[in-house]
Amino acid sequence: MALLRWTLSSPPGFFSLHRRCFSSTLRRPPLASAQPCGSENPGSSKVLLKEMDFPELEKWVQSQGYRSGQAMMLWKCLYGNNIWAHSDDELAGLNKEFRKMLSDNASLKSLIVKDIRESSDGTRKILFTLGDGMVIETVVIPCSRGRTTVCVSSQVGCAMNCQFCYTGRMGLRRHLSTAEIVEQAVFARRLFTSEFGSITNVVFMGMGEPFHNIENVIKAASIMVDEQGLQFSPRKVTVSTSGLVPQLKRFLHESNCSLAVSLNATTDEVRNWIMPINRKYNLGLLLGTLREELRFKHRYKVLFEYVMLAGINDSFDDAKRLIELVRGIPCKINLISFNPHSGSLFKPTPEEKMIEFRNILAEAGCVVFLRPSRGDDKMAACGQLGEPGDIQAPILRVPEQFQMAV
Ligand code: SAH
Ligand code: SF4
Repeated sequence: MALLRWTLSSPPGFFSLHRRCFSSTLRRPPLASAQPCGSENPGSSKVLLKEMDFPELEKWVQSQGYRSGQAMMLWKCLYGNNIWAHSDDELAGLNKEFRKMLSDNASLKSLIVKDIRESSDGTRKILFTLGDGMVIETVVIPCSRGRTTVCVSSQVGCAMNCQFCYTGRMGLRRHLSTAEIVEQAVFARRLFTSEFGSITNVVFMGMGEPFHNIENVIKAASIMVDEQGLQFSPRKVTVSTSGLVPQLKRFLHESNCSLAVSLNATTDEVRNWIMPINRKYNLGLLLGTLREELRFKHRYKVLFEYVMLAGINDSFDDAKRLIELVRGIPCKINLISFNPHSGSLFKPTPEEKMIEFRNILAEAGCVVFLRPSRGDDKMAACGQLGEPGDIQAPILRVPEQFQMAV
């Protein structure tokens, strides 16, 4: 059953949200996950194969009385080119007895395609139904330069309540399991490789805050970059966070994948409002941590995302402050145009102003890109995923000086 982190009767101020979401759930996520800490498939005695990394799969296969070489063949069936097996009858290369054992004891699939929607720019939004009936969204974005990106979800909804984000309106329903995350990338390959060519990039920029579900996200990312399996380059698997500092540090230590940080404001005052996680981990702490941690990473650049909101974070002074904030941090900056959605308070910054903002940063030596919206006519763009329903996260009080801008 869906678990909302607040109810309609909860006071809409920050502190109730803060206590419930940031203090308790960040320490020990209490929400039900489909497969919280193992590979058992709930409601069934079968083991979920995509919950396991290769050493775990190998161990399990051996525990069933089979050789490690058979585990590798199975791994290649699950993740290897042009197989991406979802059912027992796609395990053709494996020996008969081993296949029988798998069909009795293991399950290959945890997502069901509910619908696929195509935007006018070719972006596809896939809706998946999970084992418990909840729905997640995954976006596949073809790009003319031979690059295709799959944008995966890490949670159903999100607890962070960023005020500009549609997913944030849902609140957090639950974390996704490793299998549910990995399978989004497998499905993208299965469904679209013949049409778009190889799916080359993964971004954890769909529904949810990946570092709120860090265990499953780090494991899913490691399965995605496995050289015998999906073979994504670690540089091309990017996990994006709103700025959960302890988890960010852990990620930089444990994973070789890329990091993106959604900055979206240049003062604590604005960030506290539009991204309430900033009240726990403020700009100084977030950027200081990055500055410190990246000293030890060789040729590593963090990507800063900056969603431009008219009259809120797009002034000349914001540009100047942004230059100072990122000074000394090896980084690239993506300026993202705000994707409106129903009920949103904000307006997108006009294109000419985004260009001016970009130019100020570029002249100061920043590596900066403008990122036009993709898939927005089918609600497939950044911050447009999900279905909030009747019970929604609270809208926070607009600071006095921004009342005119919203
Ligand atoms: N929770 C993570 C990843 C998912 S959000 C994070 O916040 O980083 C992915 C990106 O979408 C973030 O950079 C976020 O700032 C951006 N985003 C959210 N809502 C948006 C909107 N309405 N328009 C444009 N970008 C948005
Ligand atoms: Fe969650 Fe990211 Fe949306 Fe913020 S922007 S509510 S962290 S998904």
